[in-house]
Amino acid sequence: MTDITLITGDGIGPEIAEAARRCIDATGAEINWQPALAGADVMKQTGTPLPDETIESVKKNAVALKAPITTPVGKGFRSINVYLRQTLNLYACLRPCKSYKGVRSRYSNIDLVIVRENTEDLYAGIEFEKGKDDTAELIGWINRHCDRKITPDSGISIKPISVRATERIVRFAFEYARKMGRRKVTSVHKANIMKFSDGLWLEVSREVAKNYPDIEFEDRIVDNMCMQLIQKPELYDVIVLPNLYGDILSDLCAGLGGGLGVAPGANIGEKLAIFEATHGSAPKYKGQNKVNPTALILSGVMMLRHIGKTAEADKLENAVAAVVAEGKNVTYDMKPDRNDPTAVGTSQMADAIIEKIKCQ
Ligand code: NAD
Repeated sequence: MTDITLITGDGIGPEIAEAARRCIDATGAEINWQPALAGADVMKQTGTPLPDETIESVKKNAVALKAPITTPVGKGFRSINVYLRQTLNLYACLRPCKSYKGVRSRYSNIDLVIVRENTEDLYAGIEFEKGKDDTAELIGWINRHCDRKITPDSGISIKPISVRATERIVRFAFEYARKMGRRKVTSVHKANIMKFSDGLWLEVSREVAKNYPDIEFEDRIVDNMCMQLIQKPELYDVIVLPNLYGDILSDLCAGLGGGLGVAPGANIGEKLAIFEATHGSAPKYKGQNKVNPTALILSGVMMLRHIGKTAEADKLENAVAAVVAEGKNVTYDMKPDRNDPTAVGTSQMADAIIEKIKCQ
């Protein structure tokens, strides 16, 4: 048995977590699930949205499957999702985007993997607010040392890109490509404009690529990459990006592949990994047994591959693909008409997937 932490989340989290758990168990993967709480519901009971036991459980088991957690806007606790990534140093965000027959999309040939750096760049959280003393000091220093000037009414966000973090994420992309039998890694940047941050990213990408002669390497400027992905997505394979471009292109690629309902993901560090859907907690659907469990189940497929249970992963992915292709026992969002009365609930879609697993 493999011990794995199951973070059930809030909103629609507990329903899709249960659906995913049942489907994964049906593959015979022999997982010893260790449920752990996080989010708004446990906050009400214990006063903290992320109990220490939850963090300890992930650290002990090294692998977690996590359902979504609500981040209240404006007040309340800060994002548990961001906190988990930072505390556990989950530096790589992995998002495969794939076409499945039966999923409505403008494209039928998508098979891309986004590898996003999670810790640096404009999302490092190093910011200086307009009008503050520190900001005025920084602006003064910059204006004394640079030809270009910043006006005093500016706010500033800093974009750090380091050799260490870039090496680590580009190596991760190549190792992933090698392990998954993929042919090419594309490094995305804007090195022509930001020479000392994205320029460094590109230089380090090229250096790391030299260690992987078996995998093709190329680079693309981010704006061109967006157009190319829309026009010729079949040219691309594994795409590695700094944090900000990675965030934007993840959603672009999720859209190419069929949208949030089917977009899985993972946040991975040196030792720990958390697998989770791209979508959020959709609070308005909480407790209705209505939403699509596919994204979390496909995150479970990624998790099974990560722990070496490849046969079980294939079984589960084939079963999901079969149910989606049939289009019968699927949730409302997968029907051509969202009001289709034949749409099934979250747990019934899981039942249909389990039936397909049994038939294999
Ligand atoms: P959301 O993804 O929760 O929902 C947006 C809309 O997408 C929903 O109203 C619904 O129509 C649709 N949708 C989402 N998941 C679906 C599913 N499984 N099946 C069918 N339809 C689905 O995004 P949001 O409303 O912006 O965020 C809600 C909360 O979730 C926020 O507090 C946000 O911060 C949080 N969030 C958490 C995570 C995470 O836990 N990793 C990720 C994103 C957002």
